[in-house]
Amino acid sequence: MKIVIIGAGISGISTYLFLKKHLPNPASPAEPHQLIIYEGHEANKELKRQLYSKDATEQTTNTIAIGGGLGLGPNGLKCLERLDEALFHDVVRSGHTITQWRMSCARGWELASIGIQTEEDPPTNSVMIGRQALWHCMRQYVPDIAIVHKKISKVVAAAGQRPMVSFDDGAADIECDMVLGCDGLRSIVRKSMFHNEGDESSEKYPPHYEGLVGVGGFIPSSYLRDNGVKNGEKGIVFGANGFFGYGYNTTSPEGQSRNLPHETCDPGDEANWWSTYYLDECPDWRSIDSEDAKRQLIARHSSWKNPVIQKIIKNVKIDSLYPTWTTPGLPTWERAGLVLIGDAADALHPSSGQGANQALEDSECFALLLAHHLKATYLKPERSQQETERLAGEQAAKNYSNMRIPRIEKIHQRSAALGDFKKPKNLVQEMLMYLFIWSMKFFRVDTHTRELTNYDVPSEVGKMLAASRGK
Ligand SMILES: Cc1cc2nc3c(=O)[nH]c(=O)nc-3n(C[C@H](O)[C@H](O)[C@H](O)COP(=O)(O)OP(=O)(O)OC[C@H]3O[C@@H](n4cnc5c(N)ncnc54)[C@H](O)[C@@H]3O)c2cc1C
Repeated sequence: MKIVIIGAGISGISTYLFLKKHLPNPASPAEPHQLIIYEGHEANKELKRQLYSKDATEQTTNTIAIGGGLGLGPNGLKCLERLDEALFHDVVRSGHTITQWRMSCARGWELASIGIQTEEDPPTNSVMIGRQALWHCMRQYVPDIAIVHKKISKVVAAAGQRPMVSFDDGAADIECDMVLGCDGLRSIVRKSMFHNEGDESSEKYPPHYEGLVGVGGFIPSSYLRDNGVKNGEKGIVFGANGFFGYGYNTTSPEGQSRNLPHETCDPGDEANWWSTYYLDECPDWRSIDSEDAKRQLIARHSSWKNPVIQKIIKNVKIDSLYPTWTTPGLPTWERAGLVLIGDAADALHPSSGQGANQALEDSECFALLLAHHLKATYLKPERSQQETERLAGEQAAKNYSNMRIPRIEKIHQRSAALGDFKKPKNLVQEMLMYLFIWSMKFFRVDTHTRELTNYDVPSEVGKMLAASRGK
């Protein structure tokens, strides 16, 4: 099969690796599968050049830090572990094991401490890691030759025909068997799947601005350590006028030899912070006034009774704004050889802490389903190789869409409710919010968290295939 993956972000890279791991090749003399990733953003190429240059170890955190930190939950970590144990250990060692969320409020009250881990012994915890550090770990497992730096300008697909991909540099169009849209929030593949009748330039499901903006970045871990933040602890602080989060996101060289992510360990030099606030109109994040953004940060949080926050807001520089955008619920994630994966299908509210985790689940799920249907058709080839593979791809895409949409809908609903906590509150609403968070400590692991962290992609795929055989 010739499979085009658009985008070399977390979902594009993980989809490539999962497909490489699981796809059975057709019997000789048929052609083996061909997987090509097209990445339009030169920054990825530039970043990779810097990271692999001789003095990569001397890179400042700023170079590696584009995009701040993210949390990998046990579900995302287990996808990585199943994908490749060495990659999994690289990721875990490059981040910091988080065993609990310490939730407090702007008034200085401790509200609850919640563990986000599996119920195994020893438990798998979460890992906080820089977004680029995660990408960098994964990127090392993809050969350079697999990624072509070209921007896709158009994708055309119709039932019964092979999809066509066009490039914005005028290079000749290519035909393939499947196009996997791992092209993020503003996915061109999603746009081509859903437009208004007769108007190809329209977009039926454009990204939705959630009315929240984030600022954040990296800080020395001493800001946290000197103010009593323990190893493995992530600070989550709610107030009437916004939200503040912080946590370690690296591990000390000694800690890297521990049984991570099953144990806590001393942090390395770097930590991250995050502040979210409500803003009716989406700001222009390309032309940020750093001084003004810093003034606003201080105005929002200077009265918050938390020494870590006070230390951070006095010392940080702000050079990016991150408005919160989500992908609206889609009726399907596939059509005529096109499949959406990661943010292209399901950009979630950051409150879910699940965007990258779900991208990993999506990739593994699709690869397992395609592998299953290909194996089945290769055993009993009834048509030409191309037709056999097209039908296998179609079935896999349908199964994938049916499996993933309900899971994402649940996560989306829950994270939208948590996102509301970050919007401005009057005194009564503020107190009710604190009461709700305080009461969370009486439920060690709630049902939603259990469903989230214990999700096992291979067994869910197995159940779905068994159910469809029983029909
Ligand atoms: C502020 C913030 C905080 C977050 N925190 C968390 C967290 O704590 N936990 C978590 O799990 N997730 C978190 N996420 C979400 C997570 O970062 C994303 O879900 C994840 O990175 C999605 O990866 P992706 O590969 O699907 O999309 P992207 O990373 O957007 O990658 C898409 C790629 O496609 C390329 N591309 C796009 N269009 C084209 C084209 N036409 N041609 C060629 N290439 C193209 C782009 O250049 C890009 O490299 C957060 C996100 C944000 C913004």
